[in-house]
Amino acid sequence: MRAEREPVVAIDGPAGAGKGTVARLLAERLGYRLLDTGAMYRAIALSVMRAGVDPDDAQALARHLDRIDVSLDDGRVRLNGEDVSGVIRTQEVGQLTSTLSMQSIVRDKVTPFQRRAASPGGVVIEGRDTGTVVCPDAEVKFYLTASLDTRARRRYLEVTAQGASVSYDQVRLEVAARDAQDANRAVAPLRRADDAVEVDTTRLSVDEVVERMLQIVGERRCCTR
Ligand code: C5P
Repeated sequence: MRAEREPVVAIDGPAGAGKGTVARLLAERLGYRLLDTGAMYRAIALSVMRAGVDPDDAQALARHLDRIDVSLDDGRVRLNGEDVSGVIRTQEVGQLTSTLSMQSIVRDKVTPFQRRAASPGGVVIEGRDTGTVVCPDAEVKFYLTASLDTRARRRYLEVTAQGASVSYDQVRLEVAARDAQDANRAVAPLRRADDAVEVDTTRLSVDEVVERMLQIVGERRCCTR
């Protein structure tokens, strides 16, 4: 029965809003599984990049998608069995991911997997369309935001810590371009679900964000059980 399952907690929002970090901490605190849907799109982009497939060639892309297997387990994303969790975190992969994830054949490849994985509940699922398309019935939905400068600064620190040599301005431009592309696409665009709680993380520490979210999950949990 639906009322007996632990909640599905869906977290959406633009790049650099802090979804990845807070989703991981929230899942740890609640003892829930974590589903990073963006990692699956990134793994597809990595495979397209490696194979040299033209993202605009629909037939070649469809053939390529038929040949690959992408899965998520234990917080690791696998591409044909290979753990690619680390190598998918570059700006280059992020940009191509945004371009590819506009296409419905790409979304159709991973959405059913994500939906099935979330359906038993007790899961924190994060991405761009988790509260709108993947799990529209999620018991708790959050939409995380932050100012463009804050998000760009977080991304800049993340990518330079990995050794990338990029300027802050370049990262800022890329974050803005990716958000515009994600929000304006026809299929499963980034948008706040009507019933999502918006959390602006610009002036909040990670702990403050997590505590606020835990409180909301706790309130919903007591009312759905
Ligand atoms: O969250 P992350 O930065 O890893 O996402 C990479 C890209 O994957 C996003 O910019 C977006 O284009 C795409 N994505 C998506 N739907 C999701 C999660 C990610 O389209 N549910």
